Amino acid sequence: MRGWWQLIFFLKVMTVAENAWHELDGQTVLGRLKSSVEKGLSPEEAVRRLETYGPNELVRKDGRGVWRLLITQFTGPLVLLLVAAGIASIVLGDVKDAGVIFAIVILNGLLGFRQEYSAEKAMAALRKMAVPKVRVRRGGSEMEIPARELVPGDILLVEAGNVVPVDARILVAANLRAQEAALTGEAAPVGKDTAPISDPETSLGDRSNCLFMGTSVTYGRGEAVVVETGMTTQLGKVASLLAETADEATPLTCKIRHLAHILVGVAIFLVSLVAVQGLIRHDDWRTVFLTAVSMAVAAVPEGLPAVVTIALALGARRMLRRNALIRNLPAVETLGSVTTICTDKTGTLTQNRMTVVRLESGDGRVSMPENPEESVEIPAAARQHQLVLAAAALCNDAVLTASPTDPFATLGDPTEGALVVAAARAGLPKDGLSADCPRLAEAPFDSDRKRMSTVHRLPEDTSSVIAACLAPVVQSDTGAVLFAKGASGSILDTCARRLDGGTVKPFTDTDRQVEMGKGDALAGDGIRVLAVACKPLQAVPADVAAEENEFIYLGLVGMIDPLRPEVRDAAQTCLKAGIRVVMITGDHPLMASYIGRQLGLPNAEHPVTGRDVAAMSEDGLREGVKDTSVFARVSPEDKLRIVDALQANGHIVSMTGDGVNDAPALKSADIGVAMGITGTDVAKGAADMVLLDDRFTTIEAAVEEGRVIFDNIRRFVQFILACNAGELGVMLAAPFLGMPLPLLPVQILWMNLVTDGLPALALGIEPPERDVMSRPPRHPDAPVIDKKMGANILWMGAVMMIFSLAVGYYFWGKAGSPVGGAAHGEATQAVVWQTMLFTTMVFIQLFLAFALRSTTDFVWRKGLFSNPPLIWALAVTGILQAAVVYVPILQDFFRTTALSGRQFGLCLLTGFSVYLLVELSKGVKRFTFPSTPVPEH
Ligand code: ADP
Ligand code: MG
Repeated sequence: MRGWWQLIFFLKVMTVAENAWHELDGQTVLGRLKSSVEKGLSPEEAVRRLETYGPNELVRKDGRGVWRLLITQFTGPLVLLLVAAGIASIVLGDVKDAGVIFAIVILNGLLGFRQEYSAEKAMAALRKMAVPKVRVRRGGSEMEIPARELVPGDILLVEAGNVVPVDARILVAANLRAQEAALTGEAAPVGKDTAPISDPETSLGDRSNCLFMGTSVTYGRGEAVVVETGMTTQLGKVASLLAETADEATPLTCKIRHLAHILVGVAIFLVSLVAVQGLIRHDDWRTVFLTAVSMAVAAVPEGLPAVVTIALALGARRMLRRNALIRNLPAVETLGSVTTICTDKTGTLTQNRMTVVRLESGDGRVSMPENPEESVEIPAAARQHQLVLAAAALCNDAVLTASPTDPFATLGDPTEGALVVAAARAGLPKDGLSADCPRLAEAPFDSDRKRMSTVHRLPEDTSSVIAACLAPVVQSDTGAVLFAKGASGSILDTCARRLDGGTVKPFTDTDRQVEMGKGDALAGDGIRVLAVACKPLQAVPADVAAEENEFIYLGLVGMIDPLRPEVRDAAQTCLKAGIRVVMITGDHPLMASYIGRQLGLPNAEHPVTGRDVAAMSEDGLREGVKDTSVFARVSPEDKLRIVDALQANGHIVSMTGDGVNDAPALKSADIGVAMGITGTDVAKGAADMVLLDDRFTTIEAAVEEGRVIFDNIRRFVQFILACNAGELGVMLAAPFLGMPLPLLPVQILWMNLVTDGLPALALGIEPPERDVMSRPPRHPDAPVIDKKMGANILWMGAVMMIFSLAVGYYFWGKAGSPVGGAAHGEATQAVVWQTMLFTTMVFIQLFLAFALRSTTDFVWRKGLFSNPPLIWALAVTGILQAAVVYVPILQDFFRTTALSGRQFGLCLLTGFSVYLLVELSKGVKRFTFPSTPVPEH
């Protein structure tokens, strides 16, 4: 039954020629789609259509499928070299060697695959989370749904800042403008309206009555009926042509790749040295060849770029647990080097739970109780108080969504919500007001003008409260009334008259000063102030913003927005970590300064305003930003200039933003941070990171996480390179001691791919060091391997070489057989000294990994077991090594021989002594460099 119905519906919709929606008028489109503006689809119908049309998604031909991921594990140049070596072994009749090589290649590939797969999944999950929610009207009420659930016929409500999630035909357009560069390449926003266009050939850019998926609304507000979703949208049609650029190279992986290239050169040189040595000694050339190949594997950290990417992706996942959604992988590492955090005030530092506490007008002053449950006593005669509240509620896009559990729940901007609630508490519910005075036109709020104006029909019912309130301002020729609200300066500068005691009087400069003073006094106490004004109009203007002059001043509304309790600590932590915290807000300077002082920001008593910024030259601003922590009344352009000035001073800047106009500043900053709750889709699209909870503490947490991840990357890079250096050293030095080749190819491969690979991965998830947030930020241009780390790699590699060679040499000498070492291929017997050397080396590596859990601190101070995966990795590799030594079949493959308990113990002990040595070196360093204190808990 339903199936038939769907088919009929489908055919009906299909009868509209493709792309012809712009030719029809709105009602026809609605008729075809069986929808209505007032009601939208019924929720049940929406569910049905979702089944018919499928989710509103672009189906990407994802290049990085599971199989490709798996295959790439086996196509790296070194792996291919190994495979070639394996094949060569088979051809030469050495099946055993070939077996080990292939086994190791496969093991390594699977390990790598598992890691990359989980990293890939983590990134996919992040991408999914970045999909915005949209506002629709269904079953007669407004609601928010995920964009993927949109279906044809849905009534979509859009406003400035939204990214359009479907193709839709516009039904209501209030100053609607959209930026369609994604589709048309035209960067300038185009105006939108509702009139049908008769030309069927109209190009996309000229279909001014349609909104298209992937474009963004830059201005105004609108309602539109969804006509196409998913792959049938204009964007969907080209989406299949768009190449997926999944290049996740980050500056760090580039640096590491570069490093790997250098090491290839070094490796080739050293390997040829060993090969020449071997040939001079008349070693079997097959052995020489295999040794060379395995040494190349040892020397080149081929897997490092991949491991770094994995570490970053997993880091992004950890950040998500702390509510920071990473949109670009490089952001993870950049976060670790942030030196300045520029933050918003409202909602980020404060709770964005605004409550109106003060009302001032010609009727005097009213303090409203902070608890919204308590009603507000406004005398019925206080018409001006009522008018202020009514105007603030009408010039407003928030709606009251009262429910039994929360009678004052609102949808929309919290500032506006507070005003709607205040009006409702005073007996002026918004829906009643809107019924009396419907909105006819508007000039939406933007952070440049810092005000919003709406034009309303005059109340027809002359007995209504609003009619009584408006009586003093309405003249015989008045046809409509404009209400405006905004920042006090922005409104007061626009006022020419004022309402006072029921009569309209001129607004003198003294009046302006007095009102400004009232606003400043409130702001100085941390109360956010909005001024409210009105203006009688003869008719509805085409351009409302052009009418923003000669206002009649009505009064002030003051609201509080408490500081989030945890931000002070977070700000202090940043300051301690050498990170500047700069507040940049559109709010009043006194208000900003008040909050800045509460946070303990240096120099918060001296806020710099957007006007000051605008007056400064580039150089002046570069000076100015040096000791300013509070910027107030700034516009989005000022934000951009501030970011640029900070960057010119060498700072790595994180900048928050929420509006459409913030996008340039977000893009320009090193880390653009968008608000997840209050931010517009456009801001989110321009950001590197989205704060899911809008909180400042989340930025701080992400920076800390970024530092930890960077530390850990350095940790395993240092570990892997030290191990490689040690292995190479042994191979190079042994012949000079008269010893035969000390490590067999399979042993080298085993160490590189298994026994130091697993601990390295576990080192990548070390918990933070005690001093992560008490040391200055890392210099962004600092090389991955600085001098200190280079020195560490060298001496640790040297220790590894000396200790394991010493053990090997001792047992080699004891065996008293300088000839017949194990290096002569198949025929040779496994010998004790070689197994000793091999096992010692492995244990040194394991203990080194453990010691490197902290580079500055003793490991026991960090908690011996605080990284369980590492403990597991060490235990597992230790046991695997024991198996290689004691399990007969493995002995056969790895050419090892069973060691006595004392011998095995000696290997362990040598490893442990390296651990002690590294710990000792930390103690010495701390002793010699007391200038870098390690703070106590
Ligand atoms: P911030 O979010 O940093 O406090 P904004 O740029 O969003 O600053 O806002 C700047 C000023 O504009 C606010 O201090 C307030 O006075 C005013 N304002 C904010 N929202 C609205 C709005 N919806 N309508 C009118 N005025 C507003
Ligand atoms: Mg804001």
